[in-house]
Formats: sequence, structure tokens, C-alpha cells
Amino acid sequence: MNINVLTLFPQMFGPVTEDSILGRANEAGLLKVNCVNIRDYTQDKHKRTDDTPFGGGAGMVMHADPVFRALQALGAQPPGEATAATATACGAVSGALRQRLLYMSPRGAMLNQAMIEELAQQDELFILCGHYEGVDQRILDYWQMEEVSIGDYILTGGELPAMVLIDAVARMIPNVLGNSGSHREESIYSGLLEYPQYTKPRTYCGMETPEVLLSGNHQNIHLWRLKQSFLLTKKRRPDLWQAYVQNSDHLTRQERKLLQSILDEEKP
Ligand code: SAM
Repeated sequence: MNINVLTLFPQMFGPVTEDSILGRANEAGLLKVNCVNIRDYTQDKHKRTDDTPFGGGAGMVMHADPVFRALQALGAQPPGEATAATATACGAVSGALRQRLLYMSPRGAMLNQAMIEELAQQDELFILCGHYEGVDQRILDYWQMEEVSIGDYILTGGELPAMVLIDAVARMIPNVLGNSGSHREESIYSGLLEYPQYTKPRTYCGMETPEVLLSGNHQNIHLWRLKQSFLLTKKRRPDLWQAYVQNSDHLTRQERKLLQSILDEEKP
């Protein structure tokens, strides 16, 4: 997969994309993160990339044109019939690729695991990082960019949100994680929050590791962990718990019994 990031601060990405799992994914040719400096595409002699907002108000707005030129140079294609006429007028290429164009934005759809898994199926992503008050609306309209938020709070720029998205997408690309099944038991992915984890030493500051984890009995360990996941999810994320209970057909007889025992506790 190729991920093109359009940013005014490409240097922010190196420490995240060049190390650890993302770095190895890059070396293995599974994921290529290409950070492009929007400033390189401005035609302004002072290399300006922003200006004051029409209509007044605080802050600066990023110019549409350098972003447009960067997207064109990278081979992005404006999706759908609606933009075809404008695309021709502006000289943009046309065709069908599995591309998605995203704009990191607090106005956007909230990023979640389902969205991440869908994005991981694409061949190429283009991620625009805003700064200041954001970008000229016309760039979003023309390229039909999907706005994606990472939470109900405001950050200085779209770089950190883009890194969050890239990291989460990378984990879903086949063979990026050493143990390909390791994400399945993780919080959210499984529909539940993950059970507590322990490692050596067995006793730490007088606190013991639960005996069952040292027993070597895999079935008991599995059921203990599942129970912890049930209890945590029910307590902390009633929304996930409800959904899980309603879609629990896949459970084995023993797992279902465990679920039922927890549901029975709710009864008055
Ligand atoms: N004026 C904008 C608004 O009220 O929607 C916020 C601009 S913010 C200071 C600058 C940039 O940071 C945004 O253009 C966006 O790219 C990014 N950003 C800030 N918070 C974000 C969030 N929660 N999720 C995704 N991107 C965010």
C-alpha cells in the first residue's frame, strides 16, 4: 500500500514511520509512506501557503492551489462523475484506482476500527494535513475528500491525526504484524476490551499474578481471559457490550455459558 501525506511539516513523520513496525513494513515493501511538503508546490514567489480568510476572522487558511498541484503530481484522481467536467477543465487525469482521499479534520467522521479495516483494503491513500484554521473548502469539494476526525478535541495540525491513522491502518495490512493473529484478541477488534496482561516476575510489589495464568491449562486461561474481557467491557463500554451480546452466535457452548452467567448477574 502507498500512503501519500500532504503536509507543511514532513519532518514530523520520520520518527514514527521509519522505526519499529512501520519501519519494518516499509523495508519489507508492504507499506510506503511518502511525505510531501505542500510548500514545494506553491507558485508564490515567497513560498506562501496560506492567507487571511475571506469574510474576516481569526487565523489563516491554507491555499487550495499548492495542495491541488501536489495531489496532481502524486497521481491522485478526483472520484466520481460529479467532478469529471471540472477535472477536465483543470487538466486533472481521470481513471479508476483504489484510492481514497482523506482530510484530517475535527469536522469529520470519527475514526474507528471498521473505517481502518476498510482503508487498509485500498491500494493508495492520500492524506491532507491541515494547519492554522484549515484549508480552502474548494480543495475538499473538488477532490471530494473524506473528512476524518480522531476525536472531539482540536489539535494544532493534521499531522498527529494522520500518524494515528497510518499506524492503525498499517497494523491491518497482511504480514505487517509478525504474529498475524495478534490483533484479533485486541481491544475493539474482537468487539470486547482486552483482558489484563501479566509478565515476569510472578510477584511484583507484593501483588501476585493470577494463578490460572501459570497453570498451563489453555482452556481455563482462555475462559478466565474471556471473563475479564466481558466484565471490563460491560463496565467501561456498555455500547460495545450491548453489540457484543446481540452478535454472540459465534461463541462455543462454554463461552456462551460464561456469557449467560454474567448476563444472569444483571437480573434483579
Ligand atoms: N478551524 C478548524 C475547525 O474548527 O474545524 C480547526 C483547525 S485545527 C487548529 C488545524 C488542523 O488540525 C485541521 O485543519 C486538521 O487538519 C487538524 N486537526 C485538528 N484537530 C483534529 C482532530 N480532532 N481530528 C483530525 N484532525 C484534526
